[in-house]
Amino acid sequence: MKTIALVAHDNKKKDIVEWCDFNKGTLSHYYLFATGTTGRQIIEKTGLQINLLKSGPYGGDMELGALIANKKLDILIFFWDPLESQPHDVDVKAVLRLAVLYNIPTACNRATADMIISSPLFNTEP
Ligand code: PGA
Repeated sequence: MKTIALVAHDNKKKDIVEWCDFNKGTLSHYYLFATGTTGRQIIEKTGLQINLLKSGPYGGDMELGALIANKKLDILIFFWDPLESQPHDVDVKAVLRLAVLYNIPTACNRATADMIISSPLFNTEP
C-alpha cells in the first residue's frame, strides 16, 4: 500500500482539508501521515485515518524527512505558503530537498495534487 504524507502551512490548511475531503474515497485506500495540526483538521472534516506526526514547527517536518530518508514515503502533498515566512523554514527546505533527492512525487499546490492523484502512475509500484 502506498504511503502519502499531508502537510499544509496555516494559510493553506483550508485548501488541503478541502482537497482531502474531495478525494477522501481514494485517500482512504492509502496509508496516510500528516503533521499534527494539518492532520487533526483533516481528520475532523473527513474522518480519514491518519498517523499524526508532531506539529511541523515542533519537529513534524523532521519526522517527515526521516520517513523519506528511510524510504517509507511514496507521495508528498505539501501546500507550503509562498506569502509568509515560517519560523521552521530550514525544516521545510530540508523536507523538500529530501523529496527531490529521493525522487518522491511532490505536490505543492492543488493543481499538482490533482495531477498526482489522477495519474495512471498513482496506483503503480514506486
Ligand atoms: P502543522 O505543521 O500541520 O502542525 O501546522 C505544518 C508545517 O508547518 O510543517
